[in-house]
Amino acid sequence: MPTPIWLFDLDNTLHNASHAIFPAINVKMNVFIQRLLEQRGLPSDEAVVNALRFDYWQRYGTTMQGMVKHHQVNAAEFLHETHAIDELASMVRAERGLLRLLRRLPGHKILLTNAPRRYAHELMRQLGLHRDFRRQISVEMMRVHGHMRPKPSRQFLRKLLARERVRASRCVLVEDTLANLKAAKAVGMRTVWITQFLPNQSTLVSRPSYVDVKVKSVRRLAGNFRRLSA
Ligand SMILES: [Mg+2]
Repeated sequence: MPTPIWLFDLDNTLHNASHAIFPAINVKMNVFIQRLLEQRGLPSDEAVVNALRFDYWQRYGTTMQGMVKHHQVNAAEFLHETHAIDELASMVRAERGLLRLLRRLPGHKILLTNAPRRYAHELMRQLGLHRDFRRQISVEMMRVHGHMRPKPSRQFLRKLLARERVRASRCVLVEDTLANLKAAKAVGMRTVWITQFLPNQSTLVSRPSYVDVKVKSVRRLAGNFRRLSA
């Protein structure tokens, strides 16, 4: 395999977002969604709001897209309000020596996250990884023909390959979300499933056929490199 290009997801891949950050973002999203439903005279109790947020996330890959599509909200406004977390630094939970571990990988690294730019940049700085990634691709940058196309959009992944001028087989997507790995595999990329930060029992699920390597942590990437190259 020629030198790979590593595409890293951010939340629950490079750090434990389920610990405190996702709960904080979910609260902010609920506040936003509830206010909007209330203003429009729609049912807005907690169960409705939670179900809506989760449904959009599952259907589209981001809650934001559902809010834009079905409620005509302004994407930038929604992203800003829901990801503005003052105490981010104290909420970050990541593995020790992450930078050293990632530096052991041959080839360059690109961040590919469905999170907004400001949040992703701040988090990468907190993690000490910001200088080691060639590019940080956030949700605002994932567009095809002017439309937002975040992961798991195959259209966007193909566009990314064309822009980077690389063959899909050279790219490795490292992720916790299976739908995104499935899309990456469909366009010809290699796939690594990171399981340790998943809040449910997904770690017990066996490796799906579109996952090349299943590991608990990005720590195990270097050790599994040969399996990816095979
Ligand atoms: Mg993730």
